[in-house]
Amino acid sequence: AESMMIQSDKLSIAGQLAAGIAHEIRNPMTSIKGFVQLLRTGYGSKQQYFDIISSEIERIELILGELLILAKPQSIKYESKDIRLLLEQVITLLNTQAILNNVEIQTDFDLNAPYVQCDENQMKQVFINFIKNAVESMASGGTITIRMDGGSPGELHIYFTDEGCGMPDSILSRLGEPFYTTKEKGTGLGFMISKKMIEEHQGSVHVNSKPGEGTTIKVTLPAVSDARTTSS
Ligand code: ADP
Ligand code: MG
Repeated sequence: AESMMIQSDKLSIAGQLAAGIAHEIRNPMTSIKGFVQLLRTGYGSKQQYFDIISSEIERIELILGELLILAKPQSIKYESKDIRLLLEQVITLLNTQAILNNVEIQTDFDLNAPYVQCDENQMKQVFINFIKNAVESMASGGTITIRMDGGSPGELHIYFTDEGCGMPDSILSRLGEPFYTTKEKGTGLGFMISKKMIEEHQGSVHVNSKPGEGTTIKVTLPAVSDARTTSS
C-alpha cells in the first residue's frame, strides 16, 4: 500500500507541474499575442509594446531555465565531496550580488564536518537557491549566516539563516508548491527543486521562519563515514 501511495503521489506532482507549466507559460504568451496584435494595428506606443513583449519573453526564459535544471538526470554523478568547499565556491559566485544588495554572508563551518556523497552541480544549485532566497528576503540588506556541522553521527547539517521578512503560516504552508511565489519576478520553482534534490540525496529540508524576524533553512544530509575519501 505504501509504494502505491508513493506512486500516486509522484503522479500528482507531475500533473501539478504540467498544469503549472501550461498556466505559467500561457499567461505571458497571451500577453505577447495581444501586444503583437496591437502593434499590427499601429495604435499606441510601439516602444512600450516592445518593452512588455520582451519582458514577457524573459519571463518564459526564466521559467524554462529553471525547469531545464530538473530535466538533466543523465549528468548526475555521485562523489564524495567536502561540502565546505562547495559552499565557499557558491558564496564567491554570489558575493557580488549580495554586496550590491547590502547583504553580508558570514560562515561558521566545522572544519571536521564529514564529507557527503553527492552530485556537485545539484548541491551547488541547491545552495544557490537558498542563498538567493535569503538575499531576496532582505529588502534593505542584512546578514546571512551559513553554518555547517556534523550534527548527529552519520549526518551533516547546513543552516542558512537570514534576517529577512520571514514567512507567515499562509506562505509557509505553500512553500514548495510549484510556481507559488510572492515575488514580482519570482518563478516559485527554486525551493521545490532544491527540496527535491536534497531528498534525492536521502536528505531532508526543514524551515523555521518568523515573520519580520527571519528564516532558517536547515538541510540534513547523510555523511560519508571516511572523510578522507577522494574529492575533486
Ligand atoms: P521564488 O524565489 O522564485 O519566489 P522559491 O520557490 O524559491 O521561488 O520561493 C517561493 C516563495 O517562498 C518566495 O516567493 C517567498 O515568498 C518564500 N521564501 C522562500 N525563501 C524565503 C526566505 N528565506 N525568506 C522569506 N521568504 C522566503
Ligand atoms: Mg527562489
